[in-house]
Amino acid sequence: MYEPVIGLEIHAQVLTDTKIFCGCRTRFGDPPNTHVCPVCAGLPGALPVLNRRAVDLAARAALALGCRINARSEFARKNYFYPDLPKGYQISQYDQPLASAGLVEIPGAGSRVRVAITRVHMEEDAGKSLHEGFHDSAQHTYIDYNRSGVPLIEIVTEPDLRSAADAATFFETLRRLLVWLGVSDGNMEEGSLRCDANVSVRPAGTKTLGTKTEVKNLNSFRHLQKALEHEIARQVELLADGGRVVQETRLWDPAGARTVAMRSKEEAHDYRYFPEPDLPPLEFSAGRVAAIAEALPELPHVRRARFVAEYGLSDNDAGEMTRSRGMADYFEETARRA
Ligand code: ADP
Ligand code: ZN
Ligand code: MG
Repeated sequence: MYEPVIGLEIHAQVLTDTKIFCGCRTRFGDPPNTHVCPVCAGLPGALPVLNRRAVDLAARAALALGCRINARSEFARKNYFYPDLPKGYQISQYDQPLASAGLVEIPGAGSRVRVAITRVHMEEDAGKSLHEGFHDSAQHTYIDYNRSGVPLIEIVTEPDLRSAADAATFFETLRRLLVWLGVSDGNMEEGSLRCDANVSVRPAGTKTLGTKTEVKNLNSFRHLQKALEHEIARQVELLADGGRVVQETRLWDPAGARTVAMRSKEEAHDYRYFPEPDLPPLEFSAGRVAAIAEALPELPHVRRARFVAEYGLSDNDAGEMTRSRGMADYFEETARRA
């Protein structure tokens, strides 16, 4: 018997009107390259200025996830070459993230599952390569930089999940929370929320972690669950046949219902991270953290428990009535009038 071990890295677009380091709009669906300036196009000499609202929303999410906001965090350059990345690096956070050490509880099979949050950090999104839809798409790729510099948070979990179903439940719980908080619109078709799944398997009862693979860019709960189910089965089969898992990045192929290798550890990027010289460290006063914590709404799981206690709902019904904040408000208003 093998036990799956899963850790997730989730990217969510933060709901600001403007980008993280410039004043360009973040609006989705406008004609390509209509929200671009020297900063988000990466022109030499252009300097980033951090969007305060993006920071507050990121901190709001981190606090709701039970994290500690670090008094001082740092932006870092993650260097790699790709045409949709105009500067040749992404401004992200590395060894000094915005927030650390949170905890989320999800309903699991039978009992509740505790998932520790390693960190929440901020970063900018890249542009989008357009491989289809042009008369010469067979020869050329076009690039839309409207998304370049859109603010993201990345939420990283500890390897605490033990099944594909629990991973999907976690992702759903997280999506609901981010939408509830007004931090993200959670729109997965538009790419506002995406998940990378890290997974390994080990003989049941053992403690050491097996070699993991990472399945990139899953943009629905179903894809996450299916990709993990297939990847777990693939790894178990390999080990059961006396083989070994190769550490690599894989992609989910929904049509073929399988994961396919994308790049191995040897081909992995060396990102040559270093502190971003154009941005000062991000300092958070205790007062600012307290103000953001103060402004948090009652969280979905707290409200769910209260609906059970106060209105005598079953836990299941209380779950339905807290699917969204709008639904919960509607229920509560109606119940009060009845
Ligand atoms: P990397 O060096 O590949 O970035 P990290 O240690 O930073 O790996 O972890 C990235 C993600 O992978 C985290 O969500 C973590 O929980 C998860 N993870 C790390 N090791 C394993 C493992 N052996 N099996 C499953 N998930 C893992
Ligand atoms: Zn711009
Ligand atoms: Mg890592």
